[in-house]
Amino acid sequence: MKQEFAIHWFRQDLRIKDNPSLNYLSKKYKRIVAVYIYDEVNCDKKLGSASKIWLHHSLIYLNKKLQGNLVIYNGDPIKFFKLILHQYNVLEISWNRCYEPWVIKRDRFIKNNLKEEVKVNSFNASLLWEPWEILKQDGTPYKVFTPFYRKGCLNYKKPRIPYTRKFNFFDHQIKFSDISGLKLLTNKDWEKKIIKYWMIGESHAEESMHTFFSSGIKDYFEGRNFPIKKNVSKLSPYLHWGQISPNTLWYEALKNKNKSDSKNIDTFKSELGWREFSYNLLYHFPKIYSQNLQKKFNRFPWTKNNKFQISWEKGKTGYPIVDAGMRELWQTGYMHNRVRMIAGSFLVKNLLIDWNTGEKWFWDCLFDADLASNSASWQWVSGSGTDSSPYFRIFNPTTQAKKFDPNGEYIIKFIPELKEIPLKYLFSPWECPKNILNDINFKFGIDYPRPIVDLKLSRQKALSAFSSLKSY
Ligand SMILES: Cc1cc2nc3c(=O)[nH]c(=O)nc-3n(C[C@H](O)[C@H](O)[C@H](O)COP(=O)(O)OP(=O)(O)OC[C@H]3O[C@@H](n4cnc5c(N)ncnc54)[C@H](O)[C@@H]3O)c2cc1C
Repeated sequence: MKQEFAIHWFRQDLRIKDNPSLNYLSKKYKRIVAVYIYDEVNCDKKLGSASKIWLHHSLIYLNKKLQGNLVIYNGDPIKFFKLILHQYNVLEISWNRCYEPWVIKRDRFIKNNLKEEVKVNSFNASLLWEPWEILKQDGTPYKVFTPFYRKGCLNYKKPRIPYTRKFNFFDHQIKFSDISGLKLLTNKDWEKKIIKYWMIGESHAEESMHTFFSSGIKDYFEGRNFPIKKNVSKLSPYLHWGQISPNTLWYEALKNKNKSDSKNIDTFKSELGWREFSYNLLYHFPKIYSQNLQKKFNRFPWTKNNKFQISWEKGKTGYPIVDAGMRELWQTGYMHNRVRMIAGSFLVKNLLIDWNTGEKWFWDCLFDADLASNSASWQWVSGSGTDSSPYFRIFNPTTQAKKFDPNGEYIIKFIPELKEIPLKYLFSPWECPKNILNDINFKFGIDYPRPIVDLKLSRQKALSAFSSLKSY
């Protein structure tokens, strides 16, 4: 007789706790088989290098948790389901929803295609509110964050309360592929170095959350702007891969309301709100990852400059805060939010390079690379989004560094070559007098580059390019 079981299809919900699809199946079935499908067939944008590393280690962790029972398949999910339905008696297939436009299209196709043969169900496990739930009174999507969050989200029903049912994964003999067969790693030195900064897996996400709520949250409102401070949670990669749910964070934040100033808690919740907003934009404007939301930006006179682009990617622009951020990204797979804004603004507004170029580099290097948040944030930085930093807001990397890294600790951490430069000149080393440079044996072009553009001139150039769009 054919084996009988239900399937939970793991996607960006790589956790056991507070997993709505798993909760649902475990209520109905004793035998659940967990599956992960690596699908490069139906996607318009393949995973970046850092995401592949995270995924590799996440699958190893998850498979261990499931006592080696995670079924791995590489290819088109519909093919997998057809095969497995043919060979086994599958009672139901269930998953948690994702919101990339090609995934929505694929999942719809799979549901329609399988519904005659097997029951198929899907759940929300990664958002506090579904994007189609939060709409303006006239039924159209919000385009501005504050009303989206305050009027839309906070007035809507409360987010689902996290919940975990006990269940056992069925000890089966099904085998399609193994994790190494997905070839997510390429054995480059960079891969080995970058991963050392992280502990990957559900329990580590929980540990990070507890650490954050026992210390970082206390001064989150102020401290989250200072890249050297430990006031941010660094939970974004775990959130992206679903190793912790936003619901868990939302309710944990509420639990901490008495321990911390409500300003800190409310700000943290509103940051989760920004994540929701990004998903809302992605859902309602599915081309957001490649096309300007404001069409007038299609006429923007971007420059193509390979030398500038590489200097930016490698953290060699001559502007210490920009370079520290870009090196943090390269070394750790993460960049602090404040520095993402500064480095992003520098690329788009001082180098006049199209935001898509920056989006692609971040996509490849970030462990938290997320189609919704990355695209929406880049559109925000460039001014082409719906609720964007206005074009005339051009971050000055020197004043930003003085304000948010006043002792230069973040800069020195990632650019140790600058450690002998007196603090007075650390944010603009090109102003450091020659005699001091000689004393410390510092050579521009060898130890650290001179600025690749002049801030004032490039700012003027950007302003006139941006104002040329006004007439459209
Ligand atoms: C140019 C640019 C690109 C970005 N690309 C991404 C990306 O690919 N993936 C990503 O998750 N975030 C992205 N962000 C948003 C933000 O920088 C990160 O979410 C944040 O730095 C993650 O660090 P954290 O977990 O310590 O944040 P915390 O301050 O601890 O915030 C908690 C959580 O709230 C969410 N969040 C916070 N700020 C934002 C924001 N501005 N937009 C959306 N969600 C937010 C994240 O999920 C984060 O983990 C980008 C920002 C910029 C300016």
